[in-house]
Amino acid sequence: MRVYNTLHARKEDLVPLEEGKIKMYVCGPTVYNLIHIGNARPMIVFDTFRRYLEYKGYDVNYVSNFTDVDDKIIKKANEEGVSSEEIAKRYIEECKKDMAGMNIKPATTHPLATEEIGGMIKMIQDLIDKGYAYVAEDGTVYYRVHAFKDYGKLSHKNLDDLESGHRKEKEAIKVTGEETKESPFDFVLWKPKKEGEPYWESPWCKGRPGWHIECSVMSKHYLGEEIDIHAGGVDLIFPHHENEIAQSEAANGKPFAKYWMHNAFLNINGEKMAKSAGNFFTVRDIAEKYDLQVLRFFMLSAHYRSPLNFSDELMQAAKNGLDRILNTAANLDHIIANGGSRPADFTADEDQDFGQEFVEKFEAAMDDDCNTADAISAIFELVRAINTAVNDNSSIAFVKFVKERLTTLCDVLGIILEKKEESLDSEIEALIEERQAARKAKNFARADEIRDQLLAMDIVLEDTREGVKWHRK
Ligand code: AMP
Ligand code: ZN
Repeated sequence: MRVYNTLHARKEDLVPLEEGKIKMYVCGPTVYNLIHIGNARPMIVFDTFRRYLEYKGYDVNYVSNFTDVDDKIIKKANEEGVSSEEIAKRYIEECKKDMAGMNIKPATTHPLATEEIGGMIKMIQDLIDKGYAYVAEDGTVYYRVHAFKDYGKLSHKNLDDLESGHRKEKEAIKVTGEETKESPFDFVLWKPKKEGEPYWESPWCKGRPGWHIECSVMSKHYLGEEIDIHAGGVDLIFPHHENEIAQSEAANGKPFAKYWMHNAFLNINGEKMAKSAGNFFTVRDIAEKYDLQVLRFFMLSAHYRSPLNFSDELMQAAKNGLDRILNTAANLDHIIANGGSRPADFTADEDQDFGQEFVEKFEAAMDDDCNTADAISAIFELVRAINTAVNDNSSIAFVKFVKERLTTLCDVLGIILEKKEESLDSEIEALIEERQAARKAKNFARADEIRDQLLAMDIVLEDTREGVKWHRK
């Protein structure tokens, strides 16, 4: 199996540190709001990669954190007049619901930054003791980038070039607040608290950790000093992952991660989808219109290192593609349930290894840097072959066998073949009931809102004498 390693800017054979085992860390979201579908991209693609590793027989220890202390969380807490803890707790729960909807397997461990402060203080002290960090007058602890000779190796940047670029920028726009740093690229490991902020005691000041140290420490705690794979979005390469390497390798005296994998952006109108830009859809928004499986299928229809543009047309295309697979699966289920007079065992002219060539194509695609786009093509080919091969004379054993083949490959992509119509139906009926209640209460605005919401789900309502009826468009 080969993966593209950002560290060496090339595809490399995946050779685990320990045979048969993979230790993998994926940077998780900062929890101050519902996650948007850009955040969902790394979740989906690396969950799929994990599933493939497991399919290949690896024992995968998969760690993905929640960043639950951060300026944005504090800001949101102040706006609502509640604690940051409450905000973080709320959005972790919401995020887990979205993850379940997208069929993302829970990580082996989902650590929280606020529960790992002791480890962070210890690593920061180690870095100070070894000369990699220094304490400023106000108690801020900075990492000394010049002390780490490999600084820039992941992002392929050179510290001198970075600094001269920064000097020019500084002349142009006057940057303040950096006087206490030895280099503008020195970064915060620990910062003093401000009024109204959560804080912890430390040897340097009452305060809280910087973002980068959190991941170095959580990765070390749950996976050890050396890991196989560290992953996240491309925006994390610099400075977040570069700084994680500087911290972990300086503190532990060992290489940190062997392979660094980064997904490209999910864009909208050619621009990165981001909270700050306001051009985002939450996973929840999408769930109103589509089964989240469609979102998952849409994300996997592109290679994870290619930028992917979000649009309604592409989502619709993903839905149509997925339906082709689901319809074939439903047809096979129907035959199995209503076997009738079909032979139970394989007949003489049935291939007992039917579809092997497509399984091989699928694996070849996934082995080539997790090429889910080509893996999906292999599944479509398998579906076409099944539709031709299965007919009125097929044996039950054969139909069960091809269904199993299809299910196994779809499982790797996290696609569930059983349609979830039933749960969708009860959701629709609950909305209709709520609309009736709103109308009774003369809350016509809410009633109209629900009608629109149902319309967006392609559900048409009819008021009849027997009550409200509904059908799909
Ligand atoms: P954040 O909560 O911003 O720290 O992001 C959590 C994860 O989502 C990181 O791995 C980011 O790289 C990733 N991410 C954020 N926005 C996008 C986007 N538009 N496309 C792909 N990945 C993204
Ligand atoms: Zn991280």
